Amino acid sequence: MNIPIMFHYFHNQKFKKYGQGSISEEDLINLIKKIGRDNILDIDTWLDKYSKGELKEKETCFTIDDGLKCQYEVALPILKKYKIKAGWYIYTNPLNEKYEILDIYKYFCGTNYDSYDDFYTDFYKLINNFEKIKEKFEDINYLSDDLLYSYNDRLFRYIRDIVLKKEEFKKLIFKMIENKGLNLNDLVKNIWMNKNEIIELSKTQLIGLHTCNHPTRIDLLSEKDQYNEYNDCKEILEKIICKKISTLTYPCGNYNNDTFDICRKIDIDYAFIADTRSINKNNKCFLIQREDSSITKNKLL
Ligand SMILES: [Zn+2]
Repeated sequence: MNIPIMFHYFHNQKFKKYGQGSISEEDLINLIKKIGRDNILDIDTWLDKYSKGELKEKETCFTIDDGLKCQYEVALPILKKYKIKAGWYIYTNPLNEKYEILDIYKYFCGTNYDSYDDFYTDFYKLINNFEKIKEKFEDINYLSDDLLYSYNDRLFRYIRDIVLKKEEFKKLIFKMIENKGLNLNDLVKNIWMNKNEIIELSKTQLIGLHTCNHPTRIDLLSEKDQYNEYNDCKEILEKIICKKISTLTYPCGNYNNDTFDICRKIDIDYAFIADTRSINKNNKCFLIQREDSSITKNKLL
């Protein structure tokens, strides 16, 4: 097994856990020890050996997606300590103060409530005609096929995705943040890295593209829109770090028939998917598999 590992959320004593599959500081250190420090290559070394077919059995590397603050605070010091150069894949909207409400509410809920149910209780209090909406929800049995979701998870999603417009949902979350005596700008600073942190990161780590908007279904965009997502991201990040960027990860692992030509057009040499599906060897440098860190953790720890 010499597949790169894909990380998203991290936590420690100071940085509270909030994302799904979040890796603790301790787990990261134990993963490095279990894999064996010598088997974790710098990402550029790994890619070079991969393209030449020279990787040894256990040689892997680390990738970290989304440009989150918890990664900078928790993972970076450990990677520096062990002198590991990982690939960090950043989407640029937050750098231009365009914040995604789904990320904001996830962070707000995870760091200010003991459970999702407590969060839902506060949320429901702000919904007009809540009882009526709840009846309608029960009538249509929204998302009842999804076994992972509790009753409240489903009711919340029904209100969030069906009853409310995105702007209305956003306003309610902002209201909840205010009700807790918190400031949105302070919250946002704890969710994403800022420009200075990305510059600092680029001194020891490899920076790569992850689009501007992080579309969950980039494979459904037109060729032009998809091109702009990657090309604009590249221009913004290269300007910040003053280095050429030649690797990317597809948001949610999605790509389509246009994607590889777009990669070539913008001088990308390597691109990663988000799972370990067996892939077409003809495009092996644009379809590099990755294993989710929670799977690696379950296997090794
Ligand atoms: Zn992502």
